[in-house]
Amino acid sequence: MKIDVITIFPGILEGPFKESMIKRAVDQGFVAINLVDLRDYTHDQHRQVDDYPYGGGYGMVLKPEPLFEAVEDLKKRSGPQQSRVILLTPQGKRFDQQEARKLAAEAHLIMICGRYEGVDERVRTGLVDEEISIGDFVLTGGELGAAAVVDAVVRLLPGFLAEEASADESFTEHLLEYPHYTRPADYRGMEVPPILLSGNHGEIARWRRKQSLKRTKERRPDLLKKADLSKTDQDYLEEL
Ligand code: SAM
Repeated sequence: MKIDVITIFPGILEGPFKESMIKRAVDQGFVAINLVDLRDYTHDQHRQVDDYPYGGGYGMVLKPEPLFEAVEDLKKRSGPQQSRVILLTPQGKRFDQQEARKLAAEAHLIMICGRYEGVDERVRTGLVDEEISIGDFVLTGGELGAAAVVDAVVRLLPGFLAEEASADESFTEHLLEYPHYTRPADYRGMEVPPILLSGNHGEIARWRRKQSLKRTKERRPDLLKKADLSKTDQDYLEEL
């Protein structure tokens, strides 16, 4: 997969992609991440990317020309493979694990980070395939949103993490994951549930499933509507 992130502040994104799992994915060739400075697509002395809004009002708006030129150039460079152009915006569809899984199957993502009051509306209507929000709050720019989306997508790239790593994970099956414990078995009187020390894998799997159902019912009952539940799961939820 190739991911191009268009931003006027590439420095914000240098750190997150140079550490830990993302760095490993890049080093192992699962993904190439390219930070694209929008100002490289300007033609004036001041490398101007923004302008005043028509109609007046507060703030500046990212101009259409550099964004169109950047996306067209990145598409051309990536060759015949399909590119998906994503705009980070609080007005977009709320990002979730299903969307991350869908994007992980793409060959080329071009992500546009807005700034100030956002981007010229013609960018949204004429250039973008998909608008993504990372939550119902307003950030100063799309960079942190892009970092969150890239992180969630890259760890799902086929072959990168072991299948088991994401199998039980929260949201994979519309359930939250069960709680985890590590050594010591007793920490300040807080003991690890004895079942986890039993070595009985069948019992442990059943306990974990129940914990997962219980957590989801307590914290995110909305998810249960979409979960694939067995008769045993449903009986347990009834009991709760
Ligand atoms: N004026 C815009 C509005 O009210 O919808 C908000 C602009 S915001 C200050 C600047 C940029 O930050 C946006 O263009 C977008 O790229 C990014 N941004 C802000 N909140 C976001 C969110 N929740 N999810 C994704 N991107 C966000």
